[in-house]
Parts: sequence; C-alpha cells; structure tokens
Amino acid sequence: MRVLIIEDEKPLAEALAQALEANGMVVDTTYTALEGGDAALTNAYDCVLVDVMLPDGNGIDLISWLRTSGCTSPAIVLTAQNEVPQRIAGLNAGADDYLGKPIDVSELVARLQAVVRRTGGQTGSTALEYGQLKLYENSRTLAFRDHTLELSAKEFSLMEFLFRHPNQVLSRDQLIAHLWGVDALVADNALDNYVYFLRKKVAKLGVRDVIRTIRGQGYMLNPTARG
Ligand code: CA
Repeated sequence: MRVLIIEDEKPLAEALAQALEANGMVVDTTYTALEGGDAALTNAYDCVLVDVMLPDGNGIDLISWLRTSGCTSPAIVLTAQNEVPQRIAGLNAGADDYLGKPIDVSELVARLQAVVRRTGGQTGSTALEYGQLKLYENSRTLAFRDHTLELSAKEFSLMEFLFRHPNQVLSRDQLIAHLWGVDALVADNALDNYVYFLRKKVAKLGVRDVIRTIRGQGYMLNPTARG
C-alpha cells in the first residue's frame, strides 16, 4: 500500500511515516498543501492523509480541489479540531474518513486498511488474479495452482503493483518510486537485483518468469506465466 502524508508538523509527519513503513506501507511525506497536492496528482496513492491547518492552505479545501482535479485516491483528514462541523466539512469535501489528534497509530493503520478496502481495495479472502496466479493481501501470499508462497511486505508491494496493472509496462521510475518512495536514493541496479531475487523465489511455485523485462522500458507481468 502506498500512502501520501500532507502534514506540516515535521516530527508528527515523520513519526507517522515511520510507523506506517513499519506496517509494510510505502510512504511519501510532504509538508505543504502545494507539495502535497502536486504529489497526489502525480502518483497513484492508495490513501492520502491530510492535515487541516497547513501553512499555505486548508486541508479540506485541498481535498475538494483534488477531487475536482480528478484525484480519486481515498483521503483521511487529520486534525486537532475534533468537532462535528469540521468533520462534516471534511466529508463533504470528498474525504473518506476523519481522525482526531493526538493520533493513535494502530487506529490510523486500521482506518487506512478499512478505507482502502471500502474504496475498491480487496476484501479479506479475495485475491488479485492473473490467470492461475493469485495474490492474497491478508496473508501476503502468491499462489499458483495448489502451491503458495509467502512474500515480504516489499515483495508483496511489487507484485501487487504489477497485478493491478496487468497489461502495462511499468517503468523503472514508477517501480522505484513505488518500492522506495519518490525521493529515494537507490543504486542503479537495486531494482534489477530486487526483481532477480523475487523471480528466483517465485520460481519455487513451479511457474517461470512471472515478471518480464521490457528492455529499456521496465517490467510487466508475463502473459505466458499465467498457467
Ligand atoms: Ca498543521
């Protein structure tokens, strides 16, 4: 799951980012409405967390602007103004949920998962399917016919991204941003090494070359691996 935080209190933003990353999410952090709005329109986030009082604008206005600009990522409003009118304003503007400060991280994780499920993510037992390959979010497993394989959070995140774009070549930049974050400094070969080891691991299922290299472009699921 890829999450964008828009929160100007840096220590809070960073603490939230760390906690979400520890839960296997990939997090981008921004500190202003301008930066956050730009990131939300540029990348496909599974959820956007928006503070209300931002230095250059109001988070609720930002959500409403994002909605009119075509951003469909679910949004959760974070605010100290834990009052009913504020909550209604947020939901009217297109927010999907609301969380009062101080923020309880385990509650936030639960709300995030609930919002993503409600807005089109998978429900518990359903899988993303690609031919006879099935990817289960709850158990973070990949299955082929009657064999299953457990994936790490990052491996799952990569497979999920590929499964959600089954007939599309995902560029190296898209994959690096998805796995390590937009501003991540990663070695040139980090992605290739990562894919190399994941391919080897997935081969244990008895299916070859699930991830196909498109030279000079990126990676995609291999149609011949569907079984
Ligand atoms: Ca603030």
